[in-house]
Amino acid sequence: MSVQVRIKRPFPVDLDRYRKRVFSTIRRYRLVEMGDVIYVAVSGGKDSCAALALLKEYVDSAKIDAEVKALHINLGFKTSDRVEEAVKTLANRLGVSLHVVHAKDYLDIEAAARATGRPICSVCGAVKRYLLNKVPRELGATKVATGHHAHDFLAYYFKNLAGRHFEWNFKILPRLDGQGLILTRIRPLIFARPEENEELCRSLGLPFSEVCCEYGLCGAAHAEVYEMIYAARRRDPDFDLKLLGGIVDFNLKYGRSTHGEVRRCEICGEPSSGVICAVCKLRLRLGTSPGLKSPKPL
Ligand code: SF4
Ligand code: ZN
Repeated sequence: MSVQVRIKRPFPVDLDRYRKRVFSTIRRYRLVEMGDVIYVAVSGGKDSCAALALLKEYVDSAKIDAEVKALHINLGFKTSDRVEEAVKTLANRLGVSLHVVHAKDYLDIEAAARATGRPICSVCGAVKRYLLNKVPRELGATKVATGHHAHDFLAYYFKNLAGRHFEWNFKILPRLDGQGLILTRIRPLIFARPEENEELCRSLGLPFSEVCCEYGLCGAAHAEVYEMIYAARRRDPDFDLKLLGGIVDFNLKYGRSTHGEVRRCEICGEPSSGVICAVCKLRLRLGTSPGLKSPKPL
């Protein structure tokens, strides 16, 4: 019989320490520089909401000549319009400009998952990665920021170890410099915890969605790693950040080129590791499926 382990949150949140930690990450790794135009990928959840709020707060308080904007992808699911409305309210509340892109203009994620038999989260992830590079770059961004937090990166680390994808772990950095058409990616919350992000949003009264879509929680597949992290923190509450700090330092010292060989997709011209990018491959599969909307020219 399987035993449901309920993760409690026995660790108190200190918002002052959290804020200082995030701001010091931004300074130490030069996540924000003069003249930057940073698009924050805002899904509607607490983490990206906190990333947007803190980056804006940092730029405003340090009076840096940089712009912080929000980018939201409407995934085209049943709940997506509701999430988009919440993101609009958030952007208004924070006084940042918001650009909304509709995934369906590029690929119908649900139809592609059905046609290929791939898990919806895998198709959704490919489309999000594609759009979060292409769209902000075309809008003039110098960097794109995401709300990934410490526990996301630890889950990614252990998953890659278990899957023998050792090279992928070199990408665990606060700042992943761009190359050619690939935008520089920044992770201001890399040393922040999910409960801290949630507490910040609640303390500021910012609207966020508990779930990113009707298919579940992004990251639900990492539940076991989250349980492991919480168990380790019972002995040492800062174990998670110490472990991640070690991984980041290791990567900075011994990490290799993180992008590998980057080609351009023969169909859309976007960066790709193969001849045709992941999204165009899906679009090609859909092109042969009857009854589907023809894709918009890229
Ligand atoms: Fe996409 Fe997350 Fe929904 Fe999966 S759970 S389909 S990754 S938004
Ligand atoms: Zn392509």
